[in-house]
Amino acid sequence: MFLDLHRHLEGSHSPQALARVARQFDLRTPFFFDATTGTFRTPEALASALTMAGPTDDASVFYRCIVLARQAYVSTAAIEALAVAAFEEAAADTDGFEMRLSLFSMTRTLLENQGLAWRDVPPVAFAEHYARPVLLAVLRARDAVAKATRKPMVVRLGLSRTFESEPHYRALADLVVEHAPALVGLDVLGIVAPPDTEPLPAGLLAILERLRKHLPDLTIHAGEFAGHGSVDRTLELSPRGIGHGVHALESPATLERLAREGVTLEVCPTSNHLLIPTALKALRHRHGAEPLVALQRADVHCVMGSDDPTPMGTSFQAELSRAKGFGVDLPRLEADMHRRWAEMTGRALPLGSQR
Ligand SMILES: [Zn+2]
Repeated sequence: MFLDLHRHLEGSHSPQALARVARQFDLRTPFFFDATTGTFRTPEALASALTMAGPTDDASVFYRCIVLARQAYVSTAAIEALAVAAFEEAAADTDGFEMRLSLFSMTRTLLENQGLAWRDVPPVAFAEHYARPVLLAVLRARDAVAKATRKPMVVRLGLSRTFESEPHYRALADLVVEHAPALVGLDVLGIVAPPDTEPLPAGLLAILERLRKHLPDLTIHAGEFAGHGSVDRTLELSPRGIGHGVHALESPATLERLAREGVTLEVCPTSNHLLIPTALKALRHRHGAEPLVALQRADVHCVMGSDDPTPMGTSFQAELSRAKGFGVDLPRLEADMHRRWAEMTGRALPLGSQR
C-alpha cells in the first residue's frame, strides 16, 4: 500500500469538481460563468487557468491557481461538496492518504466571498460561526468517503506562518482543541512570499505549543524555497515530519541529524519540479540523483506526496511513476510510508498489496 502523505485540500479541487459545484450553487462569477453565452464554463475551460503551465521560480504563479479555485468557497455547503469530491478523488488515486486543511485561509476566503471583511468579525464569532462549520463540513466529507471507499484517510490541520491575526488564530486554536480527536496532527505552511520565513512569529509558536498538548504530531514546511538552514531551525521545534525539506541535501550535517532523529521528509517530486526548478537543478547536480533517491541513500526517512494535484497537474499515481523512473527504492518508500502512518495514527496498516 502506497500512501499519499502530503496533499492539501485547497490544491485538490479538480476542474470537474469546481465546474459541478459552480452549477450546483449557481456561481456566476466570470471565472465560472460566461455571461456572453449565458453558460457555465466546462471543466476543460477551467483547467488551463487552474493548472501551472510549467516550471517557474515565481511561487505567485502557483498561488494564483489556488486563489481562482477558492472562489467556489461561497458557503459551507459548497465547501462540503468540494471536500467530498476531493476526498473521493484522493481515495481513487491512492491506497490511503492524509489531507491537509488550511482552516484559517478557507474561513477567511468564505467570509470574503460573502462580502464580509474578516478582520471586522470578532475572533470568537469568526471561529464559532464560520470556522467550526467549515471544519465540521470537511470532517463529515472525510467520514462519508472513508465509509464508502473503506480507504484509510486522515485530516491534518494546517496553520499558516503568514499569521494574519493573532486573536483570530487564538480563537481558532480553542476550536481545534475541541476537535483534536478527529485530527491526526498539525502542519505549519505558507505559500505567500517569503514562504519559508523563520523563526516563526512568537504568537504562532505559543499557539503551536498549546495545540501540541492535544495534537502532538507536528509537521512543518521548510527547506523548500529556503536553504538547509531553514531545516536546521525547524528541527529545533522537534517536528515528526518536514514538508519538502529537500534543501537538507546541501548539508551533510543536516542529513545526518534528520536520519539520527528519525524525522521524515515529505517529498513531492512534481511540486519541486514546478516550484523550485533552479534549486532542484543544483541539488540534482550536487548528488547526481533526484532528491528522493539522494535522501534515501543518506538514510533519511522519506514519504511522498502529490502536494496540490490540481495546480500541479499531477496525481499520486503520476508521482509513483515518476519515482519509479528516478530509481527510487520503492519497498523502502513503502516501508517508510507505513512507519510514518503508524507513528502519526498509532495504528498499523497491512503491508504488501503493491500495485
Ligand atoms: Zn505542501
